[in-house]
Amino acid sequence: NGLPSPLTSPRHRPQLLLKRHDNLHQRAQALWPQRRALPIWSYVKSIRQSLRINDILLLVGETGSGKSTQIPQMLAQEPWFQSHLKNTNDSGARVGGCIAITQPRRVAAITLARRLAEEMGTPLGASSPASKVGYSVRFDNSTGPSTQVKFLTEGMLLQEMLRDPWLKQYSAVVVDEVHERACNVDLLLGFLKRMVVDGEGLKERGGVGLKVVVMSATAEVEKLVDFFAETPHSKAVNGSNGVSGANGVNGANGVNGINGVNGSSALTNHESSSETEWSGISSDDDGEAEAGKEIVRLNGNNAINAQNDGGKDVRVNGAHTSDPEQIPHGAAKSILKAPSNISTCYIEGRQHHVSIHYTPAPVPDFINASLRTILQIHHSEPCPGDILVFLTGQEVVESLETLLKEHIPGLSSSVPKILVLPLFAALSQAAQQRVFAPTPRNTRKVILATNIAETSVTVSGVRFVIDCGKAKMKQFRSRLGLDSLLVKPISRSSAIQRAGRAGREAEGKCYRLYMEQSYLDLAPNSVPEILRCDLSQAILTLKARGVGDVTKFPFLSPPSREALEKALLLIYQLGALTDAGDITPVGRRMAALPLSAQLSRALIAAEDPKYDCVDEVIDIISCLSVENVFLPLKSHSFNLPSHGGNPDSDESETTNNTTNATASARSTLHARSGDHLTLLSTLRAYLAESSDRKDWCVRHAVSHRAMRAVLDARKQLRNIFRLPPSSSESVGNANHQHHHLLTAEKETSVLKALLVGFATNCAIPVRAGDERSASAVHRGGDSAGGAFGGYATLIGGQKVGIHPSSVLFGRQVECLMYNEFVFTNRAYARGCSAVQMDWVGEVLNGNGEGMRGGRE
Ligand code: ADP
Repeated sequence: NGLPSPLTSPRHRPQLLLKRHDNLHQRAQALWPQRRALPIWSYVKSIRQSLRINDILLLVGETGSGKSTQIPQMLAQEPWFQSHLKNTNDSGARVGGCIAITQPRRVAAITLARRLAEEMGTPLGASSPASKVGYSVRFDNSTGPSTQVKFLTEGMLLQEMLRDPWLKQYSAVVVDEVHERACNVDLLLGFLKRMVVDGEGLKERGGVGLKVVVMSATAEVEKLVDFFAETPHSKAVNGSNGVSGANGVNGANGVNGINGVNGSSALTNHESSSETEWSGISSDDDGEAEAGKEIVRLNGNNAINAQNDGGKDVRVNGAHTSDPEQIPHGAAKSILKAPSNISTCYIEGRQHHVSIHYTPAPVPDFINASLRTILQIHHSEPCPGDILVFLTGQEVVESLETLLKEHIPGLSSSVPKILVLPLFAALSQAAQQRVFAPTPRNTRKVILATNIAETSVTVSGVRFVIDCGKAKMKQFRSRLGLDSLLVKPISRSSAIQRAGRAGREAEGKCYRLYMEQSYLDLAPNSVPEILRCDLSQAILTLKARGVGDVTKFPFLSPPSREALEKALLLIYQLGALTDAGDITPVGRRMAALPLSAQLSRALIAAEDPKYDCVDEVIDIISCLSVENVFLPLKSHSFNLPSHGGNPDSDESETTNNTTNATASARSTLHARSGDHLTLLSTLRAYLAESSDRKDWCVRHAVSHRAMRAVLDARKQLRNIFRLPPSSSESVGNANHQHHHLLTAEKETSVLKALLVGFATNCAIPVRAGDERSASAVHRGGDSAGGAFGGYATLIGGQKVGIHPSSVLFGRQVECLMYNEFVFTNRAYARGCSAVQMDWVGEVLNGNGEGMRGGRE
């Protein structure tokens, strides 16, 4: 009736807020005993102490020991942090007063922020101006003016760095799950090292130092210590100022700090605030370490001994500085300081014995093998005792979920019930939260998870682990516009992590669905992504952040020079760099897009009035962002893996739907020019289908799951380009021939815009017998004077065939533009469209806005 309800009228709001606050507080109180029991609490004193003295803390601890949830709260109570709440720089801007904690996955960032808000008794993110905890992931920023702890993805922090290179709002950056070693975390570590060790940006931060905590679930500390300790001479000299300044709050001298002698304001503050409350809970019980459990090593002693040595052959924590004779006097000192600025801490987990069981023979189908193992455990092992199954991806999780649920009704009433819980990154918040809920009585939880449960998420109650031995990993494929996720064997260290999940609370068992020999043959560690992914986006980020010489950037695992040069050349060809190697305005825009350099360039070209086809190009790129929109048609099946050379492809929708009717329905989606416009017409036909999209997918042998992911990517991209959520073309009547919606002119524009990004990915026909020389090609594509001998790449003249999954398969066109160059048993171009040589010339000659590939 329009009258304010008594409870929401302004007069009553404070009461309401108070009540809400009380509830939050009560909930936080209730969580306290659980928190206090986490292993990390035995180390709290050492951790706090070490960060008062040093700027870098490397923390190793089992998954579930409390790193991600407790560390930010510990830091937020620290005197140096509290004093930062009032800091400003010369220009009066606030510096510090917030702790960033990075996660490799969006879902972990959001889940952890929620959990932390609960533990701290504060509302989450943007929901209240008083909120102390927030998160920021791509397209979802939930932070407020008083946010003190901010969870973000590694990519988001890098994006923030493009706007604010010195991370002025932060007092500390916690890099969590560093063992995952996604490409972005390696970049982040490099930037942080330059700030904390080399002292970069300290002036801009008004002298306010940055603390860095690097956390890992696996012990690769030596490498990290070496990384942070290693200081090239030139940098060491600069670093000497930086380090001491960065060390204490008010320019506290590093050496004093190490000795723990007074004079550092941080320590003074510490005395006065030792009664700090922890999240509103009295800290009388602040987890003093049990004697003997402290393993924090403050490296000050090492450093000082080395210093007495006169700076010769300095080896601090295994870091070897080069020839001491070369070290100038002042520099030697700073080299000593740098490593002494690092503390390491190993948190001893509570790991019980886990017995490992292998299969006697290779397992042909791990979904079935998992099912059998689950049922076997369920029938023979005592309950409670939950089962955690590691699978490769969402599709497999869903297939096994369906299979298992089919078996549940047939279970005898004498065995406990089974509760099946899927767990993968794309799952909704609520569904993920169910995994944490206590298991009901006389029930066994069976959690079907992806890699996410390896270290990102801890579930209590698990006694049995089933490990399929595989995971989806980003795969490096050179010359591609896209990295893709392929199913690969995991590393031994991952296998150990997975098994460990069974022994958190009691003795456990791990069933590996592979033979012992296969385990022994696994690589010891996974190769860091930076050594296997497309570097062009990473290099763009470095350039956009002002790194002049990327070969000198401190990489934890330096990529090869060739890989760096190749990426540099590509982004230069795309117009992202000037001749002097500086970033161009186009490059800056490309860096801000969450896409590969080539796709970013194509999308920016699409915005150019000359092409004016952002809607279309976004739709095409969204389709390219998933592994495969189309399901294989039986009648069209070739003797080749149709999923990008992935023999473990786990699409489960492939059966029973490949009739002739399907094939002909599918062919109505085909565009003559090739795969790009075919994807566009498919997406548009799908969008126009208002009644039953799932059924439409079945009829056209299109993956419904993939289409949902496409829509998600599309939404995100449209968001960036500030387009309304759905384009006018996408809604309409379902009965058009959608692929005819575009005029020929528009089609040309779309292909040309794509070509601006992919001009370096073109191939042209060659005469039979002349395939090694692309220059022998006859323009016009009819290869007059000889039989058609396939294609050769325009650059490099490598022989390449059209992939059988392409609608252009078997056709001869004047010029082929492709997204990916894949090599299975021979070289194939995937994602192909026919373009004209004239267009390539047009684009390469710089008409395509900043392209400069062919310009002399
Ligand atoms: P680590 O970072 O060392 O892996 P966390 O701090 O993430 O450990 O988790 C510590 C413990 O907190 C977990 O074992 C779990 O019991 C609890 N926990 C963490 N997140 C949640 C959540 N979202 N819901 C319920 N419990 C959680």
